[in-house]
Amino acid sequence: MRFLMKFGGTSVADADSLSRTVDIIEEHHRAGHELAVVVSAQRGVTDQLIAIAQEIADSRSSATIEPFINSLRLRHMKVLSEVAGDCEGEVGDQMEERLCNLENILNAVHNLRELTPRSLDYIITYGERLNSLVVSAAIRQRGIPSMVMDGCEAGILTTPQHGEAMALPESEGRIRSRVQPLLTEMIPVIMGFMGCTEKGIVTTLGRSGSDYSAAIIGAGIDADEIWIWTDVDGIMTSDPRLIPDARVLPTISYLEVMELSYFGAKVMHPRSIEPAMKKNILVRVKNTFNPTHPGTSIVWHEKRDSRVVKALTYIDKVALINICGAQMIGRPGVAKAIFSALADKEVNVMMISQGSSEANISLIVEESQAGIAIDSLAGLVRQGLIREATANRDVCAVAVVGVGMAGAKGTGGRIFTALGHGGVNVMMISQGSSEVNISFVVTQEDGPKAVRILHDEFRLSEEDDA
Ligand code: ADP
Ligand code: ASP
Ligand code: MG
Repeated sequence: MRFLMKFGGTSVADADSLSRTVDIIEEHHRAGHELAVVVSAQRGVTDQLIAIAQEIADSRSSATIEPFINSLRLRHMKVLSEVAGDCEGEVGDQMEERLCNLENILNAVHNLRELTPRSLDYIITYGERLNSLVVSAAIRQRGIPSMVMDGCEAGILTTPQHGEAMALPESEGRIRSRVQPLLTEMIPVIMGFMGCTEKGIVTTLGRSGSDYSAAIIGAGIDADEIWIWTDVDGIMTSDPRLIPDARVLPTISYLEVMELSYFGAKVMHPRSIEPAMKKNILVRVKNTFNPTHPGTSIVWHEKRDSRVVKALTYIDKVALINICGAQMIGRPGVAKAIFSALADKEVNVMMISQGSSEANISLIVEESQAGIAIDSLAGLVRQGLIREATANRDVCAVAVVGVGMAGAKGTGGRIFTALGHGGVNVMMISQGSSEVNISFVVTQEDGPKAVRILHDEFRLSEEDDA
């Protein structure tokens, strides 16, 4: 079989977890399978890179750069020396070269006091740049040939949107010709999270983007299966950090995972499903720390659960935009004007709801885009198309997901009755036309409570008896 295996930040966070990762790789290699590996940065490193880049672009002093570089060196060299023994010297030199580059770029950002989206993207790929060296060396240490490739060398060609780039269709053929021929000879270790534009400018694919890299590369090499290795046993009925009795789902459909990840379930990147779905590649989510657990399989057609609701998630970094005005009533083109104004400023609208009186339209946008959304609607106020647009940032969006909800009568009633009994006030409701998702908005404080209430209401901790 041919596998694409992606290992997340927690699977490569220290020497112990990295040895487990390499055990898994070695086992599948020795069993005669072909393998390509995608790796993330070590846990927390991307956050640190973003923080230092922002800090030194604003700061009068560059004093924090050197200690930061030293801490990265220490962290990665420690793991390297523990897992890569003989290979250490040669890889150590490559690591020094990368650290020196990073230091130079951070100094340049500081000298210019300018951090462009392009330079930030380049800087934040260094977590993957450093970690891939360590992982590949650890594989070679087990006597298995391996080399490192960055996302661009592997063939991921993207749109130029820094921080949220999307893979272009040409990537598939490029990956096939660059990565696939290597698989009979070695295990390529590919840096996740990044690609490049046609001009060779480095881009990143959004936070948690290594999952997306995995799907793009898995599709490009015609993998039989894509395995996402992480720190939980699979995709669960809710985030286990919020709901300790959340249960692992043995199977889930592509559509359900897309809805969950779109609404903030961190376990997968929202765009990581589509490339696999297009080619009907089975995706499995498995636990590096419990590899014998079967994990979750993501498939096309999911059996309907006896419980209509399968999983719950919530996202708190959102804002509710309320647009109102009696002049909106019965006036064609108002919705068009609103959405055009938002689209012109590249505001992504996550949820929409319109009152039947048409005097009110409510939208959910990312919290970071709330200010831009309000500014972009100010023109419509001046034109008299709407009376006012306001933003409420003290909200979160909860998504209730399950293919079984399609056509099941009374699910909405059950959801909102349970919330009402629990004292949760619902501020906005939206249901996708696919009926796989009912989402609603509550105050930030009520978000976790709403998820807890519905997890109990739909008995999600109990085994499926269908
Ligand atoms: P990785 O470093 O492997 O990419 P992430 O931290 O990005 O790992 O994603 C795994 C985490 O996602 C889990 O530790 C868990 O807390 C969180 N998570 C959120 N929602 C879910 C869910 N529905 N099922 C499983 N994990 C979830
Ligand atoms: N290292 C990147 C991040 O932290 C990508 C990933 O982990 O998938 O967002
Ligand atoms: Mg992740």
